Amino acid sequence: MKRALVTGGSGGIGAAICRRLAADGCHVFVHAHRNLDQAHALVDDILAGGGSATPVGFDVTDAAATSAALEALLAEAPIQILVNNAGIHDDAVFPGMRAEQWQRVIDVSLNGFFNVTQPLTMPMMRTRWGRIITISSVAAITGNRGQTNYAAAKGALHSASRSLSQELASRGITVNVVAPGIIDTLMSEGTFDAAAIARLVPMKRAGRPAEVADLIGFLASEQAAYISGQVISINGGMI
Ligand code: NDP
Repeated sequence: MKRALVTGGSGGIGAAICRRLAADGCHVFVHAHRNLDQAHALVDDILAGGGSATPVGFDVTDAAATSAALEALLAEAPIQILVNNAGIHDDAVFPGMRAEQWQRVIDVSLNGFFNVTQPLTMPMMRTRWGRIITISSVAAITGNRGQTNYAAAKGALHSASRSLSQELASRGITVNVVAPGIIDTLMSEGTFDAAAIARLVPMKRAGRPAEVADLIGFLASEQAAYISGQVISINGGMI
């Protein structure tokens, strides 16, 4: 049974990814930070449905805490599927953006990517099979007013993933980015109303977390072995 870690499994998209990977037969580590109770509830649900899952909690910006938590998981066995999904946004037009807003958003997305991915890489390489999938955003591709911090953090993940894909290709590990548009979760709820969605999205609706999870499920599967170094959009035709 493949072991999969989904960061931000307590959130809207992360929970759908956990459910999908569990349905596909993985043992899923459902990660959370502040909302560990949600990770526990999701694990209970997955177990009740016959799947296999364990909750795990740490702040991805805390390198020491992350490393300690991952060491405990790696002591059992390597993790072969990693979904870097934890992320925040904290929007402000650039002239009014505070340094903490800039740093915090980059800390969670970009430094969090390093803190989680780096310790898992060598054990994954030794198994000669792996999938590293990172969730970005349409904002990293098109830019978005008020999101210079978020677009910078997510855009850097595109470049990091392309480079990492080249390092790991010969070891059977694919590294890809999924860039969603507007997906129906708590994160997008306060940002886009129905009129904005109708204006911005050619399909005139928000995406569903399960639709993103289906794409992740495919990228994590055996069938996606020849896809690596890619940024794949899922956005209802926005670009
Ligand atoms: P949610 O706000 O529902 O979930 C965010 C997740 O990130 C939570 O599980 C949260 O954990 C976790 N997280 C936040 N900060 C930290 C931290 N310091 N350490 C560890 N975990 C942390 O968001 P979504 O599900 O909507 O978003 C998931 C991903 O998808 C994000 O990367 C987001 O940028 C991206 N995205 C979302 C879009 C959307 O429209 N919803 C569009 C494009 C991209 P906890 O709550 O336990 O603290």
